Order: sequence, then C-alpha cells, then structure tokens
Amino acid sequence: MNARYIGRFAPSPTGKLHIGSLLAALASYADAKAHGGKWLLRIEDLDPPREVAGAADDIIRTLAVFGFEWDGEITYQSQRHEIYQSALEQLKKQNLAYPCFCSRKQWQQAARQGADGFVYNGHCARNPLAPATGKTPAWRLRVPNQEIVSQDRIVGTYAQNLARDIGDFVLLRADGFWAYQLAVVADDAAQGITHIVRGQDLLVSTPRQIWLQQCLNVPQVQYAHLPLLTNQLGQKWSKQTLAPALDLRQSEALLRQVSEYLGVPPAPSVNRPQDLLVWTIQNWHIGNVPPHSRIHG
Ligand code: GLU
Ligand code: ZN
Repeated sequence: MNARYIGRFAPSPTGKLHIGSLLAALASYADAKAHGGKWLLRIEDLDPPREVAGAADDIIRTLAVFGFEWDGEITYQSQRHEIYQSALEQLKKQNLAYPCFCSRKQWQQAARQGADGFVYNGHCARNPLAPATGKTPAWRLRVPNQEIVSQDRIVGTYAQNLARDIGDFVLLRADGFWAYQLAVVADDAAQGITHIVRGQDLLVSTPRQIWLQQCLNVPQVQYAHLPLLTNQLGQKWSKQTLAPALDLRQSEALLRQVSEYLGVPPAPSVNRPQDLLVWTIQNWHIGNVPPHSRIHG
C-alpha cells in the first residue's frame, strides 16, 4: 500500500448515481489503485433539505454492484460536525473568519457577478460591529487579492484571484448548515487525502479550497478534474438535467463506456464487473483522459 496516495469518492446523497457519478467513481478509483493507494468513500450528507431519503444506501449498494471496494469505514459528513467546528474556531482565532449579518437581498442588489455567482461586497468585514438584532450570522472567510494557481493533472493551469472572482465566501450558513467548501477541506485534511479526482463542475471551487488549506495550515492536495458528460443540449448530466439512474443490470456495458471515455483501451470480454475495474487500473494513464466535455446518450 502506498502511504503517499489516499484518494476518495465523495457523493452527495441527493439522488441515485448517474453516468457522471460513475465516471468520477471509476477515475478516482483507478487513479488510486494504479498508484497502489487507498480509496475512501465519504457520503456528503451536509444539506438535509437537498437530500433524498434512502439515497446514501442506494449509492453504496450501487457502488458494490459495480464492483468497487473502498478502504476502511464509510464516513458521513453528518457525523463530523466537531471537525468543521474546530476548523472554524481555528480560522476565527486567526481573524480569518468573520460574522456576516447581511441578508442575501441586502448585498446582492449592487453586487457584481463573479466566477461562481455574486461577489460579496465585504460589508461586514469593513463594518465589524454586530447589529443588535439578535440575528444569527453566517461566517465568511477573508480572501486575498492575489492569484491562487492550481496545476491540475488533467486541465493544466487554473487560476483565480479570489478577491476579484469569488469574494469572501461562506463557511457556516446563517441557517446553521456547514458550507461545502469548509467541510470538504476539513474532511480531506482529517482523512489525509493526497489526491482528488472529481468532475470539472468543481474546478471553480478549487482555488477556494487551496486557500482554505493554506489558512488551516494543512498540506495541499493534488487535483485532477474530469471532463463532464453532457446531454445532447450540452448540459451536464445531473439531477437537475434529469440524468437517468444507473441501471444495475447494465453494469458491464456502462463501465465499458465510461472506461473508454477516460481514454482506456477496450477491455476483452470478462465475467464480472470487477474484471473491468482491474482492466481500467492496469491500463490507467491520466494523460490519456481527455480534458474536454463530451456528449453521452
Ligand atoms: N459531494 C460533492 C458532489 O457530489 C463532491 C465533492 C468533491 O468531490 O469534492 O458534487
Ligand atoms: Zn455581511
């Protein structure tokens, strides 16, 4: 086992796995196993309003039918609030996090559009007095006015100036839910994740996550962002675009298709889906993964 490679697959239980999730699962698995590394499974159940009852168990069952074997216990973000709380406390102590009492309406009116929604105007960073409303604040992270550069193993150089493109971003929402950015970085650090292989929809989040790693003084991760699979209209397959759930009876055909999308040569005929995973690991070269999105279906 290679102690210097720990990877993971981190689905949110907002629905069943679809072809895009299978691509991320297979690529993260093959990259980890081709490096002799570990592959962890983490259920990102942080946002109950968006979750679907039974989806986490369904995801786990589906991965097992497709032949995936994860290392160690499955972790659930819903059981790890202390880890996020202590990360936030650390950021507060360093005066990197501050409370924000603005309502969405208040600050979005005049806000400029950035790389991932509106850029927060920094009102509560400039006016640090808590209003006497008894309102619960959100907590935001201060971001620097400098380029954060990621050398992505698939995409190449990707850079953002967080102050210009994103703005001070939320760590803990006013409704009490942890933001994805904080939870994912705290968990990846706590679990010793060294490599992240995931979809390009999350590329835009990567500079924020690198900045959080620097603020928390944890090691930086190596990133690889996979091409997105789109429908005929060029829309990413997701729950919103009504991606069909993976058909368990088609596991072999689906794995073959996704393996081919990742630049792996066609596998010989096999007896079990596991054999296709082995083939993908044996023929894995991340340099063969095409960086651009492609139409599926
Ligand atoms: N839970 C996130 C999702 O399903 C993925 C998080 C990650 O891989 O960083 O979109
Ligand atoms: Zn504010």
